[in-house]
Formats: sequence, structure tokens, C-alpha cells
Amino acid sequence: MLRFLLPLALLAASSLAAAPNIVIIYADDLGYGDLGVYGHPSIRTPNLDRMAAEGSRWTSFYVAASVCTPSRAGLMTGRHPLRSGTMGNPRVFAERSLRGLPFDEVTIAEMLKPAGYATGMVGKWHLGHMPGYLPTRQGFDEYFGLVSSNDHNKQYDTKLGRGPAMEAKDPSLWDIPLMDGEEVVEKPADQTTLTRRYTARAVDFIERHVDQPFFLYFAHTFPHTPLFRSEGFAGRSDRGVYGAVVEELDWSVGKVLDTIRSHGLAENTLVVFSSDNGPWLPFEQNGGSAGLLREGKGCTWEGGMRVPGIFWQPGSVRRGVVRDIGSTLDILPTVAALTGAKPPDRTLDGYDLSPALLRGEPSPRKEMVYYRGGELFAYREGPYKIHFWTQTGYTEPKPTPHDPPALYHLEHDPGEKYDISAQHPDVVRRLVAAAKRWDSRLERGPDQLSERAPGPVGVFTHPPVSKP
Ligand code: MG
Repeated sequence: MLRFLLPLALLAASSLAAAPNIVIIYADDLGYGDLGVYGHPSIRTPNLDRMAAEGSRWTSFYVAASVCTPSRAGLMTGRHPLRSGTMGNPRVFAERSLRGLPFDEVTIAEMLKPAGYATGMVGKWHLGHMPGYLPTRQGFDEYFGLVSSNDHNKQYDTKLGRGPAMEAKDPSLWDIPLMDGEEVVEKPADQTTLTRRYTARAVDFIERHVDQPFFLYFAHTFPHTPLFRSEGFAGRSDRGVYGAVVEELDWSVGKVLDTIRSHGLAENTLVVFSSDNGPWLPFEQNGGSAGLLREGKGCTWEGGMRVPGIFWQPGSVRRGVVRDIGSTLDILPTVAALTGAKPPDRTLDGYDLSPALLRGEPSPRKEMVYYRGGELFAYREGPYKIHFWTQTGYTEPKPTPHDPPALYHLEHDPGEKYDISAQHPDVVRRLVAAAKRWDSRLERGPDQLSERAPGPVGVFTHPPVSKP
């Protein structure tokens, strides 16, 4: 009997050893053009530049939606956020929201736990802040961070909230709680040291799990405004306050990768870096840049949804630039394929990118859908993108309809300047049919965003705690 069991045990041990650790680092509102390796002329990001040089850097990498909540739901579930009811109007969970990501959705953490993974989250969740919806109820063993956006619970006249006024000086202007697990440990959170403290917790989590497969979801609070950075980064960046904040994030990425390297885990750890949506343009110099892409956060122009996408696992993930289409929706299926974890038994909207990452095969993703609220605004197939509706993120009050849809060639014209629909009616017809097919198959889940309490509720009413 032992003769048969022993090889099986060895096989099981070797397949366990091969299952990589997974680390996802997700910035907030960092634009396509905000990193050195994506072309920013004055923000210095040597650690992300090195990560990209050692890994695979995608130039057509998309989030599921152009604002925080639905983007995060898409990443965590591998499903379009309309399926989980986390996309619509209002657009995100706010202070008075009562709901969150529905419990029957399966997050990456919930998928990996049965496969023996330790699961930790650091940073911004924004998928429900009421007690029952916290990360610790959605598959994470532990959690440390600001559960929602860092501009919630404003303690000042909101009319001052745009432009230079958001260059933050006083963290107490945003009365938001820092949480450890399900406990409030600081309120208002001192945001000036947040990136440093997040990084310390992320490093600590990795060091506590060097002997066990782990999944770390490290979702930075910044460079979402208000902008805060540690003392050591003040006045150092040529790009001013915004640059300092991004350079501190880059420092943090360096710390995480150094920790992984120093424990000999580099070849067995997949690290993914991306951002939840494009730059928040109304904040002017305190918002980021989408580089040569059009517009930013909140809209379905490329600048709203095309973001940096870097994959790193030395010896496994191929080095180089990938120009094929990929999405954060693809991360769950890719992680399932790489770890052997069982994907959730339901409709997924992502593709397994591992053949592209490991062997340089073409990306299986050929299309991208761009929704705003509940409406399909645009659709990409190959190099072509049609717009049924266009609207800037924050400056145009109403969408503009396009009938026939506007058509752009995203390789010839990545800035979406030249509508070529009149020259290519056949392409427009083909994409319209494909877009309508995609939309007709999308099952919309019950809305989670609209239900709101009349007054402040949830973790935001927890009493302040005295700082240690
Ligand atoms: Mg965001």
C-alpha cells in the first residue's frame, strides 16, 4: 500500500510547492501615464521600472470600470461588476451605503483559501464598510487599512474640495477610521504615515507566511486625493506633491519585492501591479495623468479604463512588453490556472492569461467592454473601438449619443482623436453586432449601491480611539 501512497504524497507535495504565492498591488486613481516606465517625464519610479523590466508590461490593460467600487468588484470576482450589482448610480459605496459586495460572490481570497492559501489584505477595500461586508467576511484572514475612500467623512465645506484646496495638510479634515481586522484602531486615520504603515504590514504578512502559500491583496489608498505622503518624501519629487505620493508608492513596491527576494520567494511568487481607474482630472495638478490617452477617471474614453498592468515572477513570467488586450477581470481566472485552485462555479468574464504570461502566446482576450452606470457606452475589438455614448468623467453633465457609433483605431490613434466611422461602416456594423451580443448575455444582479441610510452609519460612527 505504501508503495502506491508514497509517490502520490510526493506528487501532492511537489504540486503544492509549485503553486505560486500571489500578490496584487492595486493603486488608486494612478493614471496610465504616471510611471517612469509608462513614459512619465518627471515622476521617478525605479522599483516599478525594474519590476517591468524583469516582467511583462502590458500596454492595453483595462479595469472593469472607471471608478473605484465596480473596478474592485471586477478584480476580486473576475466578473463584470453589473453581475454583482456593484455598478450603477450612485457609482460607488459612500458613507451612508448599507450594502457591499454580495456574499454569494466568490473573491480571489475565497477561491484560494480551500487550496491552502493564507489570505491577507492591506489598504482600501471599498466593497462595503458595514460590519458584515468587511474583507474579513469575504475570504481574507486578516485586514489592515482604510476600508473606504480617504476623502470620506469630510469635516470641511465641500465647496472647497476641488483643485489646490485638496493639497492636504491636516488628516483630521477627513474623519475616517483605520481598521485592523474588524476593529477601529485610529480615527481619524493619520494619512501622512499610511503608505509607510501599509507597507510594514504587507512585509510583515509575507514574512509570517514564507513557509505557506499566501495571497496578499495590497490596495493602496493613494494617489487618490487628498494627497498625503511621509516626511521623507516631502519636497523630493520634480512632479510636486502628486509626484511625491507616487514615488512613495514606488518605494513601497520596492520594499515588497525586496522582501520576496530576500526570502528566496521571487521565483515562486506572482506579483501583479495595476491601478483601479484613470487619473482624477478635476483635481488638476493633484490628480494624475493618462499620458497620451484621452480623459481620465469616471468615463469610458481610454484614459478612464486603460491603466498600467505589470506582471512579475522571475523565471516564469516572460520579460517584455505585451501589446495584446488584458484586463483585471482576467486575474482571477489566471490565478486559478497558476495555482490549481478551483474557479468559482458561475459565469466569469475573464480569461486565463497564463499562456500569454508564461509562453508568450497571444492573449485570449480580443475584446473589452466599457460600461458607465448600467449602460454599454463603448466596445473594443482588436484595434477598433466604437462609442455609442461619450461623456467626460466629471465636466459634461450629460452623455452625447453617437448614431452611428463613433469609431477609433486605437493603435493608429491611441488618443481617440479621429473618428473614422464614415470610412469603415463595415467595421462599425461588425462591432455593433458583437457589442449587442455581449450586452444581451450580461445578467445584471440586484443593485447594491442605492440603499443608503438617512444619517451617518457603519464604521464611520465608531467612536474615536486614543492613539497608542
Ligand atoms: Mg479609484
